[in-house]
Amino acid sequence: MNSGNIGKLQEGFRGELIQPGDAAYDSARKVYNAMIDKRPGLIARCVDVADIRAAMQFGQDNNLLTAIRCGGHNAAGLGICDDGLVIDLSRMKNVHVDLKAKTARVAAGCVWGDVDHATHAFGMAVPSGIISTTGVAGLTLGGGIGYLARRYGLTVDNLISVDMLLADGRYVTASADENQDLFWAVRGGGGNFGIVTSFLFRLQPVDSVYAGPTFWPLDQTPEVMKAYREFLLKAPEYVNGFFVLMTIPPVPLFPPQLHNQKVCGIMWCCTGTPEEAEKATKPMRSVGKPALDHVGPVPFPAVQTLFDPLLPPGLQWYWRADFFKELSDASIAQHVEYGSKLPTTLSTIHLYPIDGAAHRVGNKDTAFSYRDANWAGVIVGIDPDPANREKITNWCKSYFDALHPYSSGGAYVNFMMEEGQERVQASFRDNYDRLAKIKKKYDPTNFFRVNQNIRAA
Ligand SMILES: Cc1cc2nc3c(=O)[nH]c(=O)nc-3n(C[C@H](O)[C@H](O)[C@H](O)COP(=O)(O)OP(=O)(O)OC[C@H]3O[C@@H](n4cnc5c(N)ncnc54)[C@H](O)[C@@H]3O)c2cc1C
Repeated sequence: MNSGNIGKLQEGFRGELIQPGDAAYDSARKVYNAMIDKRPGLIARCVDVADIRAAMQFGQDNNLLTAIRCGGHNAAGLGICDDGLVIDLSRMKNVHVDLKAKTARVAAGCVWGDVDHATHAFGMAVPSGIISTTGVAGLTLGGGIGYLARRYGLTVDNLISVDMLLADGRYVTASADENQDLFWAVRGGGGNFGIVTSFLFRLQPVDSVYAGPTFWPLDQTPEVMKAYREFLLKAPEYVNGFFVLMTIPPVPLFPPQLHNQKVCGIMWCCTGTPEEAEKATKPMRSVGKPALDHVGPVPFPAVQTLFDPLLPPGLQWYWRADFFKELSDASIAQHVEYGSKLPTTLSTIHLYPIDGAAHRVGNKDTAFSYRDANWAGVIVGIDPDPANREKITNWCKSYFDALHPYSSGGAYVNFMMEEGQERVQASFRDNYDRLAKIKKKYDPTNFFRVNQNIRAA
């Protein structure tokens, strides 16, 4: 990358070009996971599609490894790269709500908090994840698993179209009517096919929800998990509750007598009326002897932002994941063992329900192939102290190794570190070959390769 070339790019560029040595460089290259410490040669912070196009052309002309960044949340740090170019969309924030059409057009630099803010004003929501600071683009392109999945499906099940810049410079729309192969591929296939510049989502009527945690002392885990696996799959679709093993952090959000206690729990988020939700969840909340049962009506964005203060950017994160069809007795024994060894206060495992509405879409209808799984599991070692990096990594890997035999075989791509081609293929399963053909059509040189990479057929 030479300064003459960068100067040329600068001529028509409206955003910022940030290079090593610039005052903004160190903050611009930071991603959410502090375990990732990469040093790109150039960060192009774009403000419009013309900027993105110019930056992409620059990357191609100079044969640069090029990463695309939205929210910077990717666990493996796939929104950044060493030496090459980062096309950073984080300044492109705009949400246009169309109440007549019940849609939201979202610019590719938004995080979910931007979308929730704009849509909640009208009692609407787009199904997303469980935290407000995650980027819309990365989460959506991998599938999107969150609180509304049982009722309204994955994020991609609420996607109407995307506008995309392709590797050959074309700017296209992909939807059920146009470029159908591309539209199929971007619903789960990640950032492999081009740069999405905006998303058009269907809005769902979600305003206040019945939400909050029920926690039980850790020794009740087998009883709670066995009850939960029966309860959840029979519960009405307006009931959502993800299972968690965690340590209660010593923060005012929780009663002091529970601080630092290891627990199992369910984090509820139900979209029925409070009366319906209370009645439907009561049987599960009455299992054993809960240590805390704190559920009630709250605005949807309050649930989405609940964990934000606990999980600021700059922590060390190490992840492993798998899909699960069932929670067998043998797998529960592993949860009991590794739950008792949570290595740090923030380390945790979550099992997110993906049955209900998410099951009404077939395995081959979108690139997201595990529609027959009932839970997406993720084991995450988290700690602020870099000295604990090995400790959280080793716990996470051992837990994964013990649990993997009871899984469906592959993982949600957005919950993976860089784990090699075999794991990428296992995650797309029978859809991999079709994705590889679409990759060949739209990105034969693998320009878009800083991702969970699909190799052209
Ligand atoms: C605290 C936390 C909570 C999370 N919770 C959830 C959850 O509840 N549900 C869930 O499904 N996931 C969740 N995730 C995982 C999340 O979906 C992934 O980390 C995702 O990659 C983040 O997207 P991003 O845009 O922030 O990432 P970035 O790091 O900015 O980008 C990640 C990847 O997305 C691709 N990409 C980004 N923008 C574009 C674009 N415009 N066009 C094409 N490709 C692009 C690129 O391939 C890039 O490699 C969570 C992650 C964290 C850290």
